[in-house]
Amino acid sequence: MSTYGIDLGTTYSCIARLDSNGNPEVIRNNEDDSNTVASVVFFENENNVVVGQAAKENIETDGERVVQFVKREIGKPEKRTYEFYGKTYTPVEISALILTRLKNLVEAQGGTIEDVVITVPAYFGLEERSATKQAGELAGLHVLSLINEPTAAALSYCARQFQEDRTVLVYDLGGGTFDVTVLKMSMAQNNSGRDVQKITVLATDGDDKLGGKDWDEKLYNHILHACCDDSGLMPEEIEAETRQDIRSKVEEAKRKLSKKQSAKVRIDVNGSRTEVTIKRSDFEQMTSDLVARTMNFVDATLEKVPAESIDTVLLVGGSTYMPMIINAVEEKFPGKVQQHDPDQAVAKGAAIYASMLVEEIDTPSAQGEETSGDKTFTRAEQLTSKFTVEDQTPRSFGPGVVDTNGAKHKYVLENFIKIGEKMPAVFSKTYYPLEDNQERVKLRAFENISTDDTLIPCVDEEGNPQAADPAQKVKLLGELIVNLPPNTSRNTPIKVTFKVDASGVHVEAVNTKTDEIFETFLRTESDVDIERSAVHQLRISSD
Ligand code: ADP
Ligand code: MG
Repeated sequence: MSTYGIDLGTTYSCIARLDSNGNPEVIRNNEDDSNTVASVVFFENENNVVVGQAAKENIETDGERVVQFVKREIGKPEKRTYEFYGKTYTPVEISALILTRLKNLVEAQGGTIEDVVITVPAYFGLEERSATKQAGELAGLHVLSLINEPTAAALSYCARQFQEDRTVLVYDLGGGTFDVTVLKMSMAQNNSGRDVQKITVLATDGDDKLGGKDWDEKLYNHILHACCDDSGLMPEEIEAETRQDIRSKVEEAKRKLSKKQSAKVRIDVNGSRTEVTIKRSDFEQMTSDLVARTMNFVDATLEKVPAESIDTVLLVGGSTYMPMIINAVEEKFPGKVQQHDPDQAVAKGAAIYASMLVEEIDTPSAQGEETSGDKTFTRAEQLTSKFTVEDQTPRSFGPGVVDTNGAKHKYVLENFIKIGEKMPAVFSKTYYPLEDNQERVKLRAFENISTDDTLIPCVDEEGNPQAADPAQKVKLLGELIVNLPPNTSRNTPIKVTFKVDASGVHVEAVNTKTDEIFETFLRTESDVDIERSAVHQLRISSD
């Protein structure tokens, strides 16, 4: 089987597939003796790029050649780049290096990898999504689809227990981000009339600057100060090598504290050895504010979805191994908390989803078979025929058009598809050129977070988003050029269609007079110079 699920994480990434019995399994990272690969890239020299734990070990000593947390930069308007040895890298290219490392894990074990599903946070907007997809393609992968991380986690949970009508809260505390999502799992019928489990996102919230690294930071400072107390040195007198030594040992100590009541760390402080013992209770005390911050987000989410309706709480993300997290969540939702492979659940769910999207499934071993009538189902088929994933649109989308009805032209954004709608979502509307003999129309597509039908005036006279209402987060996605033949009347109907699915937004325009279809959507991302002077808009109503 060459279909894989990939959790491209902020701090750790993971790749999984379904084994021959249809059970999700993670591809081990033997080099780091781990189920995951650190999402850290070290540009060692002109010819060598290191990804994973080995790269992490250079953060303190060669930090200027290390890239971490690149997921925070992917698809962001700031368009940050990195430069190493005279070459410039985009976040997409750095992410592709991480994905290539995951791909190599499969290949090193004799596997082939073609089709993949990559996971993204539920709050990712379109640019982030399309940049993630691009990174996959750059790594030579065929990206079947993207799937929201909490949905993937819920899918892997479904694979364990088939549940009817349950509301699940996914508490995902990773290395750099915290997300809380409420999903509804319900029964529905698929196109062939078969009962399937449907997963719908009801609410999502979180903090993309809160994660395990904040726990690491507290522990790092604690150990650094203990080293200073022991050696009589000031923090600034501690050498970079010693800092790196502490940095490298902090995470391991934190992991130990998840299992044991105390952890010992030995550090060479500027040449002489110091031993620091950390008690779990002290660690919990110094990080209690961080736990409280995550619980505040849970409370905020419970304002949208009542606490009584939550049947199960799923703990996802490596940081939920910490007993303080399990305890805090258990206290809020007694008896409802479940945790299964929290650092692998997302990749496993993506693997299940990937196999749902491709039909061919490896020949099963006898053990994985179940006979029903005259057809033999593999476990994978049983699994995949039971689910349907219903994700919601992460943003609202629509074109900027001209409203000519008033005394003065108004440039408005018409929301075709609204945030929270079931995906795939499709909407079409007919518009008209602004003037007779117009040579072309520049159809601009926007995303925003408003649920209003019309946003006035959210785009300026040139159709660009206006900063006037930042709360609506209006963002120009790009434009579609619709060339019109000579002598086109201003009453020629132009049908505009927006389609949004997990992999992004697709915009299409049809000149209904000539049936000519226009679908080359120019992203602002790809350096399209959006001509600001010429206004070739579409108007809402005909004469
Ligand atoms: P991501 O943030 O990329 O989604 P993960 O979900 O794998 O990644 O979470 C990574 C975080 O989990 C890191 O901060 C890591 O230190 C932490 N972590 C992993 N295992 C443990 C453990 N046993 N105890 C405490 N923290 C852990
Ligand atoms: Mg994660």
